[in-house]
Amino acid sequence: MLDKRNFYINGKWVKPSKSNDLEVINPSNEEPFAIISLGSKEDTNSAVNAAKQAFDKWKETSKDERIKLLEKLLTIYKKKSKEMSEAISMEMGSPIDYSISTHTVSGQSHLEDFILRLKEFNFEEHFDTKSSNYIRHEPIGVCGLITPWNWPINQIALKVVPAFAAGCTMVLKPSEIAPISGMLFAEMIDETGFPPGVFNLINGDGAGVGTNISGHPDIDMISFTGSTRAGKLISKNAADTIKRVCLELGGKGGNIVFADSYPNAVRDGIRNVMSNSGQSCDAPTRMLVEKSIYEKAIKEAADEASKIKVDVASKTGDHIGPVVSKVQYDKIINLIKSGIDEGATLATGGPELPNNLNKGYFIKPTIFTNVTNDMEIAKKEIFGPVLSIIPFETEEEAIKITNDTEYGLGNYLQTEDSEKAKRVAKKLRSGIVYINGKAADSGTPFGGYRQSGNGREGGTWGLEEYLEVKTITGWK
Ligand code: NAD
Repeated sequence: MLDKRNFYINGKWVKPSKSNDLEVINPSNEEPFAIISLGSKEDTNSAVNAAKQAFDKWKETSKDERIKLLEKLLTIYKKKSKEMSEAISMEMGSPIDYSISTHTVSGQSHLEDFILRLKEFNFEEHFDTKSSNYIRHEPIGVCGLITPWNWPINQIALKVVPAFAAGCTMVLKPSEIAPISGMLFAEMIDETGFPPGVFNLINGDGAGVGTNISGHPDIDMISFTGSTRAGKLISKNAADTIKRVCLELGGKGGNIVFADSYPNAVRDGIRNVMSNSGQSCDAPTRMLVEKSIYEKAIKEAADEASKIKVDVASKTGDHIGPVVSKVQYDKIINLIKSGIDEGATLATGGPELPNNLNKGYFIKPTIFTNVTNDMEIAKKEIFGPVLSIIPFETEEEAIKITNDTEYGLGNYLQTEDSEKAKRVAKKLRSGIVYINGKAADSGTPFGGYRQSGNGREGGTWGLEEYLEVKTITGWK
């Protein structure tokens, strides 16, 4: 059993002020493999105080000094990528090959991209050539960073790296369900030699450390990724201190498959939604299929889903792993049952364990057809390997159904008619629209409309979230 009870405060690993142990469970076998501590208000105060003390000096560091440290961190990250992949695989159940090729690589690519953006970024400039007004971008101050378990190192890198780059100091609270990758990242930061107090890590849950962070008067900004439920609580608790609150929340993406889409569009949509066991905020969980190809599409969808293997995370090869926890497992199974009760057709999958497994939080890739957009399975973020297929007749109807959700994170559309693709993409109310499965380039902004949040992470947009803008007049 790994003992991970200490916190990283002011450049040292320290014991919590009082003991409050939590076991970290491996979702592939339901057994604990590590122990962490849930922090208290005193622990949060110590971490915030360290970050506050460190800010005065850190904000004065030059861009070059910060670039050098980030480049060193990148070298250490690459050296320890195997450990990172293993940690993610154990804590949240990602199959080891997927951990290596996708999760761990995401942390590396954010580091690389933010180093590039920092090199290019102008922190100060004249308003215009004739003006004596001067514009400065200054670090916002002490940041509280709260992250989820589903893409653990991706989310941590998207916050910690731009905060460093901007000249901010910070307190990170990783998800208590999957904290080990974040602690390994803290060890890398320690090895890099960032000044004490610039980065601090406290483990804890939402009601404890999470709430202490969002309401803390000495924290200037919160960057939160997680559920819309917690995002609302954080916004309310942060309101009294008027701190900046950047939210990256849930989603219920639509994937419009037009009759003139490329041949593998349905199969690719299935692979996309089932990857990471359906635990991605921008997963295309509602597939909208044009009526003329509906019957063919549902056969292809069920066939492709039945080919997806489900197995333990430690096994190599192409399969999906378990979902992260018993809580998530129960929630997903209940939603699958609600789909059956509401009259959707179960095309494949269902609430039983896959045949090859008798423990672990495993769910069969599940597809519902004949779904209407008012069913629970079409409205709620299920966050498991479950897809709803909804028929449509016209372009207008497809847009209307896709936008008929409280979320607005990622939407997808498939057609070989590029004019139609552009027309529809402009009408979809979401922070990102993927046409024909084309991936987003590194450094493009990521974030949501409506109840999917208000922030943008990645690239220059992600860096600017950590900066204040100051106008100085009479600058000669
Ligand atoms: P969650 O909201 O339960 O927890 C996320 C983090 O917030 C954890 O660290 C948790 O301890 C903390 N937390 C919970 N309640 C809190 C509170 N009241 N105050 C402060 N902190 C609190 O979410 P989760 O189950 O860990 O993650 C899954 C969710 O994250 C999904 O809804 C998913 O869509 C979303 N997500 C969004 C993005 C994005 O970029 N938009 C990316 C990944 C995940």
